[in-house]
Amino acid sequence: MRSTDGATRPDDPARAVPSRVGPLNLSMPRGLSRGVAEYRIPSDALVRASLSRLFSTRHEVSSQRQLKRLVERDLKSDEVFRVGEPRLRQIAIDSGLVDLEIHCRETGERRSLVKCPVCAERLRRVRNMTVFGGTVTVGYRCARCGYWTGLRKRVPTRYVFTRRA
Ligand SMILES: [Zn+2]
Repeated sequence: MRSTDGATRPDDPARAVPSRVGPLNLSMPRGLSRGVAEYRIPSDALVRASLSRLFSTRHEVSSQRQLKRLVERDLKSDEVFRVGEPRLRQIAIDSGLVDLEIHCRETGERRSLVKCPVCAERLRRVRNMTVFGGTVTVGYRCARCGYWTGLRKRVPTRYVFTRRA
């Protein structure tokens, strides 16, 4: 629908635009359908508090999926919370509450990396001297989370979270 130039009446279609925010919100991943399987996305602070509770009683959680289940169970009240695994990992790293052990599988893939696949920090090149006196990149490592890889890319497959002493 086209609005006519000039005079804009209060009920002009152009003023109705903000109401489209409603229908757009429905596409957000909040739940499957109205009233059924609704869930909320917890704030970073809620997730951090939950991690703190969990690791006050246990020493280790041996996978990211298990940590997700534990956090969601801990947060559950009359509302259901969902936290995505990559986001949970980020919050756990940022919290300083846990040490992260990263299990990887080596792929044959050779390509240069910029961002850490674990924590999204910028990776540093690991260089070696060559016999000719120059340097050559032999891999990458992350100063933030400890991920490292040689030129054949190592892909994280499992994370073990251990309470920091
Ligand atoms: Zn990292």
